[in-house]
Amino acid sequence: MEALDVLIIGAGVSGIGMACTLSTECPGKTFAILERRQRLGGTWDLFDYPGVRSDSDMLTYGYRFRPWQDAKVLADGATIRGYLADTAREYGIDQQIRYGLRITRADWSQAKRRWTVTAIDEASGETRRFSSAQLVMCTGYYNYDAGYTPEFPGIEHFSGLRVHPQHWPQDLALAGKRVVVIGSGATAMTLVPAVAQQAAHVTMLQRSPTYVLSVPSQDRLTALLSHVLPKRWAFSLARRRNTLLARWLYQACRRWPERMRNFILKQTDKHLAGSSTPLSHFTPDYMPWDQRLCIVPDADLFEALKSGRASVETDAIAGFDDRTIQLRSGKTLEADVLVTATGLDVQVFGGIEILVDGRRYAPQQHMLYKGVLLEDLPNFAWIVGYTSLSWTLKADLLSAYLCRLFKHMDSHNLDAFLASDTQASKTQTSIMGNLTSGYITRADRLMPRQGKHGPWQVSNHYPSDKLTLLEAPIDDGVLRFERRQAGLRAAA
Ligand SMILES: Cc1cc2nc3c(=O)[nH]c(=O)nc-3n(C[C@H](O)[C@H](O)[C@H](O)COP(=O)(O)OP(=O)(O)OC[C@H]3O[C@@H](n4cnc5c(N)ncnc54)[C@H](O)[C@@H]3O)c2cc1C
Repeated sequence: MEALDVLIIGAGVSGIGMACTLSTECPGKTFAILERRQRLGGTWDLFDYPGVRSDSDMLTYGYRFRPWQDAKVLADGATIRGYLADTAREYGIDQQIRYGLRITRADWSQAKRRWTVTAIDEASGETRRFSSAQLVMCTGYYNYDAGYTPEFPGIEHFSGLRVHPQHWPQDLALAGKRVVVIGSGATAMTLVPAVAQQAAHVTMLQRSPTYVLSVPSQDRLTALLSHVLPKRWAFSLARRRNTLLARWLYQACRRWPERMRNFILKQTDKHLAGSSTPLSHFTPDYMPWDQRLCIVPDADLFEALKSGRASVETDAIAGFDDRTIQLRSGKTLEADVLVTATGLDVQVFGGIEILVDGRRYAPQQHMLYKGVLLEDLPNFAWIVGYTSLSWTLKADLLSAYLCRLFKHMDSHNLDAFLASDTQASKTQTSIMGNLTSGYITRADRLMPRQGKHGPWQVSNHYPSDKLTLLEAPIDDGVLRFERRQAGLRAAA
């Protein structure tokens, strides 16, 4: 069994970021990243549908320690994967990734004060074991094996091709095909303009509308500044500006929902001018940021609608017949290809079973401390980023916090931490908070809970997260520590 100081599970944005931070902040620590896939990148390696791209601006989605340096505001999936691979290479952590290992279980031994992680080598079927003092989950939040598809009445009568964006067939030729994309989230908004360029026609079929905000695809100001300032400075400044802007947008939507709603709808109305699509298809019955806003570059979705190669229907599915979709309103849609952009199957810790001295640990019955440590789970962390701002903004802070925690433990000769609630703070609210998007509602019953106050509440506020995670004392009276015992390391 290979023994390390830190085991990181998952080589996506979070795992690569954690490993880079660990290698610079705690250079003496031995670590490995265990990854199920054959390549790094996580989400950006898995998703390969036409047009796949970020819907966050890349300046804030890129790492704080290695700023994104491209004027393109939203980047395609392959470019993001390339950025992650370059980052891993530059920090030399690519050598520490063990690919093809599906982790099935992690066991904490209080006697040994160590984790034992069980992995299946998916190529050979062989079981392998690793041990570590610290375990950091960077497994994302959804099931990689299958996406979420709701039950559609009569779907068995549909004779065309059915595709989920999570498993896009590489040989799928869309020329001359009638495509219907079911969904109204970021994936559907990305797919529609890309599919419209190939297919005879694409219809976005949504049950309810979503707010859509168009942003310029190029950050011309930063591109200009990078000619007069060192490139790294120009992009670091732009990152700060965009962090503030994204935060402002989110806060403004929470504080002045009516005003922000009118602003977004006015912009959308302008973009739709000249198309036959009524504004009602983009007028939700909830307020902005009650669910995730969709961002599109250079109004590409609206341009596709104007071109006549794409259209949108807001309706419910009543049934299927051969190549026809019957809608509740009585309308019908013809489709050769049905794309179910209906979301993700939410999963906690990549389906890994967690046991503490043989007892199964249920995350949904526990709280999250400072958004990263699990209540009553020793030496265990979960990196989960923002859902209302760029994921990486929070993931970066959490990695930095974990390194502070490890350094604190080393300098005080401590070998275990435990976040324990002594004030009965638990509420029934999950860490997903009050967002009401479909996958978030589905996730609610699986996710850890939030507490009434302090470190047990998950914050979406970047400046206060910075203070809590980068500056507040590690030893805060809530986190308990155990002193290193002589001889334990040798026994591991
Ligand atoms: C299509 C799409 C677009 C998105 N766009 C944005 C965006 O623009 N902005 C934004 O902020 N967020 C976006 N998100 C959210 C996105 O998931 C996060 O931004 C980010 O990719 C999460 O990174 P991660 O490393 O935590 O998880 P992931 O990217 O999901 O990576 C998890 C890794 O863990 C591995 N893993 C999981 N379970 C196991 C196991 N049992 N054993 C071994 N390995 C395992 C997986 O193989 C994977 O490589 C998007 C999500 C999707 C699906």
